[in-house]
Amino acid sequence: MSSSLMAALLRPELLASKAYAVAPSTGLIKLDAMENPYGLPDLLRQAWLESLTDAPLNRYPDPRPESLITALKTHIGLPAGIELMLGNGSDELIQILVTAVAGARRPIMALDPSFVMYRLLAQQLGLPFVGVPLDAEFQLDLPAMLRAMSEDQPAIVFLDWPNNPSGSLFPEAALEAIIQAAPGLVVVDEAYHAFSQTTFAGRLGQHPNLLLLRTLSKEGLAGLRLGMLAGPTAWIQELDKLRLPYNINVLTQRSAAFFLQHSQVLDNQAEILRAERERLFQAITTLHLKTWPSAANFLLFHAPGKAPAIYEGLKNAGVLIKAFTGHPRLGDYLRVSVGKPAENDRFLSVLESLL
Ligand code: PMP
Repeated sequence: MSSSLMAALLRPELLASKAYAVAPSTGLIKLDAMENPYGLPDLLRQAWLESLTDAPLNRYPDPRPESLITALKTHIGLPAGIELMLGNGSDELIQILVTAVAGARRPIMALDPSFVMYRLLAQQLGLPFVGVPLDAEFQLDLPAMLRAMSEDQPAIVFLDWPNNPSGSLFPEAALEAIIQAAPGLVVVDEAYHAFSQTTFAGRLGQHPNLLLLRTLSKEGLAGLRLGMLAGPTAWIQELDKLRLPYNINVLTQRSAAFFLQHSQVLDNQAEILRAERERLFQAITTLHLKTWPSAANFLLFHAPGKAPAIYEGLKNAGVLIKAFTGHPRLGDYLRVSVGKPAENDRFLSVLESLL
């Protein structure tokens, strides 16, 4: 009865899709999800808690916290005339974008591989998804991308820059060419901006179809869930109609405002992580595993025939990284997020013992 009721009520795309899986991590060194491993220095934690003491939990949050939005605009460096909307993580903003264009019945396009939510959210809404393959070195194939856009007329092209899971930072000129040729919106997803230190923010407004995604997750505040979508005011005003009125809770609003005043702490942590990324790159290369230069806080590496054993061996030794089990292209690859120096050392020594 319940399964026939489900079949009658639920969209077939939903029944056919799989839930987003998160590997259990209790007790493990967590190098699977591109989080900042540091957390807050004690003094700052104390000041942060104090900033929350009079947070009005009995009231709904401000549906449009103007002073926080203004501070975030400055933090990103948005040009005048560019508007910003906030999401419960950038995931929610991707969902809003895909939902907004669903009626056009045009495909969602992204690179393949790229951040999995672009495809998942398109599929859940029953929209065609086109993944344009990166080349063997995980670089953008611009002619293929231009061809695919012209053939498939995507409503939105998502470009994660740097790319997840490869860490590749595609040439700015290639992104420019895509933005100019796109028949719809182009969303440049700068989730890893703290580690690439590159941005298209200054070009917003120069291209009427360009939007920018940011998040506080990767620079150290994944638990807050605060994502940002920037773009020309007219676009943001329309997209904002799909946002649930109280999507950013009181504690997140307060905390984000606090951390913007102390962003130097997170900047310093990102600097250490960038240096550790280079050390990990060298060390993985020395182990004769192919890896790729990364502009993010993770590295993808190739372990032909050995990826499942390395993943399990690391997990048994207390280190959790990311495997792509069952992925049509990435089954032989693993992705490790950059941790604290001692965590990276542990990862490297277990990895070496497994080869
Ligand atoms: N974009 C990219 C490219 C990502 O890799 C991720 C997280 N893995 C996100 C967006 C989602 O970030 P958030 O925590 O803001 O939802």
